Parts: sequence; structure tokens; C-alpha cells
Amino acid sequence: MSRKLNFSSGPAALPEPVLQRAQAALWDLDGTGIGILEHSHRGKAFRAVLERTIAALREVGGIGEDFAILFITAGATHHFSMVPQNFLGEADTVDVCHTGVWSAKVMAEARRYGHVHVACSSAPAFDTTPTVQTYSPSPRYVHYTSNETIYGTQWHAPPANPPAELVCDASSDLFSRPLPLAGHGMIYAGAQKNLGPSGISLVIARKDFLATRRPGLPPLADYMTYVDEGSMYNTPNTFGIYMIGEVVAWIREQGGLAAIGERNTRKAALLYDCLDHSKVWRAHAKPGSRSNMNITFRGTTPALEAALIARAETAGLSGLAGHRDVGGMRASIYNAFPEDGVHRLVQLLHDVERDA
Ligand code: PMP
Repeated sequence: MSRKLNFSSGPAALPEPVLQRAQAALWDLDGTGIGILEHSHRGKAFRAVLERTIAALREVGGIGEDFAILFITAGATHHFSMVPQNFLGEADTVDVCHTGVWSAKVMAEARRYGHVHVACSSAPAFDTTPTVQTYSPSPRYVHYTSNETIYGTQWHAPPANPPAELVCDASSDLFSRPLPLAGHGMIYAGAQKNLGPSGISLVIARKDFLATRRPGLPPLADYMTYVDEGSMYNTPNTFGIYMIGEVVAWIREQGGLAAIGERNTRKAALLYDCLDHSKVWRAHAKPGSRSNMNITFRGTTPALEAALIARAETAGLSGLAGHRDVGGMRASIYNAFPEDGVHRLVQLLHDVERDA
């Protein structure tokens, strides 16, 4: 059976050469005669995987030794609780840039630990990333969601002049473009969009920021445990770490983050251009705030949207329906999604418009 064009928002399409390498590694990792799922996490073979994954992340991401690279067995939602648990005392305030569903969850969790100040908000339409922030007098940190996976907006530069460290949920755009490390205390991301499988998150955090966390937390809830134990306090998600390493090596083969970023911009521009010139399709996000990863759009009628989904499924284009809470359509075109697939969607949008 041939593979479909997968527009899923995550878990999402992964690079095919990586999937092929992983198939072989399931059987035999690096000629060891034992598969990646079967190797002890304390053995030499997995140690080598962990080391080369971290080395690739540092090289491709331009991440210096002042930042720790941590693997945590859980998705990004885990950090919605873990970040305030570590950094937000009862008297502290976190400033949150509110751009949609994910920042709402960030705020709900933070309120369990301390105070939340909304530094900016694009509610209720969530079609922009606000250009003006009003910060509280002395926030403990400033949180933003670099790419809003559901509404389809993306910060093209981090929030300006933050009065404290930025903490960023980059689940749906980490390693899709050069990393903006300046000003950041922490960037975290679930892996299942641009980096690997679900159920594992990557944390890139300044070591001196992590050291300011509240002491006395349970070991797996304390970011410093992952620093001190090299993400090996307990058995990590060995396969997830292997996959992240292979995907990042693939990004290096593609020319690195600048090259991948240009390709992602070009892919998204093809779709936005088609939507902006259409009489029946309309992009949700406003120019300047549009995501290169998740292109959200609507048709003028529900019948048109239904026709697009039906014809897409027949043509082998899968996963175009929007998020269950907001409806409409969403094309998720992460790093591994082929440019040719975007052309096929553009053609289909033209065809459905012509036949309407
Ligand atoms: N943040 C963002 C921006 C996301 O897109 C997602 C998942 N779609 C999450 C957080 C939650 O990730 P997980 O389900 O892996 O916890």
C-alpha cells in the first residue's frame, strides 16, 4: 500500500529516510545485534545514541554549554504544570502571552501555584500574535507559545523587551527554523511534530535559570534532577531519544535550520498565496502572524469544506480537518512534509473552487 500525504497536526509526518533507518535499527542498532527497543539504557550502545543525539542538537541548534539539553518522558502538557511548580512561588506572577488554546492551559496550570498576568492577548479570534505587550512590574518569567498549533499563528520574533526570562512552548515549531535562544530561560517542546514520536519532550534551558528552581521537589518533578543525572535518573524513552537524534541528523543533511526554515517559509507561502487569491477559501491568521507550520483556513460554506475533505481523502491527502474545537480546515506542513504535497493541496483547492 502506498503512503498517504499526511497533514496531521501531530503525531505527524516524519522524514522517510529516518523511518527507514529506524526500521533497520529496530532489528539491529549500529551492528550490535540488538534492536534499539531492546538495548539497556545503561549500556554502551545506548550511551552512544544519547551522546550523538545531544551533540547533533547542539551543533544543528547552535546551543552552547550554558544551556542544558534534557529529555523528559512526557509531552509538553507536563511542562504546563512542571514550569510553575519549579519557578512560580505563591507570591510570584508569571506574564503570559495569550494566543489560544495552549496558552489558556498554561495559565490554568500556573494559577495553581501563583499569579497570572496576561501580558497580551489575541482573544477571541486568536488570529494574530500581539505586537504590544504590557508586562507586570516584576514577573518571575514570561511565557509564550511560539506556534499556536490550533489557530495557526506563529511568533516570527519573540515577545519584545521581556522584563524576565522568556519561557517558550515551542512544541509545534522547534527546529523548524533557527533557534532564538537570546532572552530565553527555557524552551520546551513535545517531540511529535518536527522531532520524533509522542510521549517525550525536549527541554533546552539555561543552566543558571534552572538552578533558581524551588528546592525540595520530588525528583522527577525537579528540572535539576534531569541536569544532574543526564536525563537518566530513571529509564528514559530510549526510542524517542534515538528518533530525535536521527531527525536532527536529517535536518543537518538538509542544510541545517536556516535552510529548513527557508523551505518551510516557501511551502507555507504557496498555500497562503492560493488562499489569498481565492474567492471561496480564506486564511484564518492575519499576515505577519501566520504560521509556517499549521495553515488554518475556512471555506465560504460547510458544504465546500466537506467537499474538500472528501476529495482530499479520495486523492490520498489525509488529516485536513481543523481541530475539533475550532472547525474549518488545517494543513500541518512540518519539516518532513514534502513541498510537492503542498502543490497537490493547492491544485485540489483550485479544483474544488472551480467545481463549486
Ligand atoms: N503545546 C502545543 C503548542 C501543542 O501543539 C501541543 C500538542 N498539540 C501541546 C502543547 C501538548 O502536547 P502533548 O499532547 O504532547 O502534551
